[in-house]
Amino acid sequence: MIFAKELRRRLVAAPLLALLFALGGCVNAPVHPPAYSPLILISIDGYRADYITRGLSPNLAALASEGVRATAMKPSFPTLTFPNHYSIVTGLYPDHHGIVNNRFLDPVTGAKFVYNDRSTTNDPHWWAGGVPLWVSVERQGKHAATMFWPGSDVDIHGVRPEHWLPFDGRMSPDARVDQALQWLELPAGQRPDFLTLYFEQVDHAGHSYGPDSPQVDAALREIDAALGRLIDGLKQRGIFGNANIVVVSDHGMTATSENRLVVLDKLVDMHSVNVVTAGVVADLAPKAGHETEVDRALLAPHEHMRCWDKSRIPARLHYGSNPRIPPIVCVADDGWLIETQSYLDRPNHHISSGEHGYDNDDPKMRALFVAEGPAFQRGMVAPEFDNVDVYPLLVKILGIRPAANDGDLNAVRAMLAPKSE
Ligand code: AMP
Ligand code: ZN
Ligand code: ZN
Repeated sequence: MIFAKELRRRLVAAPLLALLFALGGCVNAPVHPPAYSPLILISIDGYRADYITRGLSPNLAALASEGVRATAMKPSFPTLTFPNHYSIVTGLYPDHHGIVNNRFLDPVTGAKFVYNDRSTTNDPHWWAGGVPLWVSVERQGKHAATMFWPGSDVDIHGVRPEHWLPFDGRMSPDARVDQALQWLELPAGQRPDFLTLYFEQVDHAGHSYGPDSPQVDAALREIDAALGRLIDGLKQRGIFGNANIVVVSDHGMTATSENRLVVLDKLVDMHSVNVVTAGVVADLAPKAGHETEVDRALLAPHEHMRCWDKSRIPARLHYGSNPRIPPIVCVADDGWLIETQSYLDRPNHHISSGEHGYDNDDPKMRALFVAEGPAFQRGMVAPEFDNVDVYPLLVKILGIRPAANDGDLNAVRAMLAPKSE
């Protein structure tokens, strides 16, 4: 077996030797053009930090041992898919980029953002609080391709990635990898400097069967095989040696149950309050004239749930200033869910076996970070950091100017190889 490091050396050396022969000793020969060195950002939705120790992600583990692995990455609050994916590509906390939940309201128009309803998410105004990486890449004369990423199929600030597809959960992981490889083999000037890939299968299995299920294990294997297919494809195309690969997740997963429900109706008169969203995080707006009554009912201590006035959410959660956040935010304790009786009375109601969205200090919400490539140290295990810090790291590797952000390069700088620092 050729170790990746050796393979990398050979792949880099081969074209260099060919070039030297071609030049045939010509003194004024042009300098070898810089190697194609794309940055590939991969999200495995719902991949909890400790899943990597299950022995079911050998390709990911090999990348980690060749490059850098963080003990964990801390997601932003709330630990939901859309807020966190947008934090990773903007470097902003959800409070600052404005994708404050998977479901939320525009306080002015009353319009609703529903993450899996394209007719709502497609409106650029939702996304305008952040400048995602692919927009900066395109604006600064480089090229971006997105093989799915929340927001990547929206016309944000009038800019789209050069290559993108509307989200389609039916597209197989292998087909996504093959599409990414097709973009990577385009000629210079069209091929991406920055490429994203996104996989939701581990998250789906975690919701349907719980984090400790054989179905999650199967999904871990499936996505690791797709990662293997990507790495093989990069090697075949001579790109692996120079590509920087960053694999992240948006949040972890914890087991939930029908037996761990906080029923809002038992705590507050439901005629007095609008429930914007419920589940792990319940966002609530008292109806006009009922503010005092609702505050008294909800802001008192409760079992298995904490509720805050939005202005009094602990600073460590970086959440509460955005006008899209309704007046009261409740979060369930690990493994619990907040529901309304009317929802539970629906014959088709569904309580999942796994969830996320909880306090980002919860170890079960910890996310994945693995990075490998010439920009990174080799064989390093880094301490935990916040997911907003990924943005300045990616900006540094891409060599572009960052938009204003909440990230801190110093939290992650030690992961960079000395010449990239
Ligand atoms: P969550 O409900 O927070 O677990 O969200 C995860 C789900 O979001 C995934 O399982 C996908 O089905 C969905 N999803 C991910 N990316 C997108 C996207 N770009 N557009 C629409 N839905 C998406
Ligand atoms: Zn997710
Ligand atoms: Zn999920």
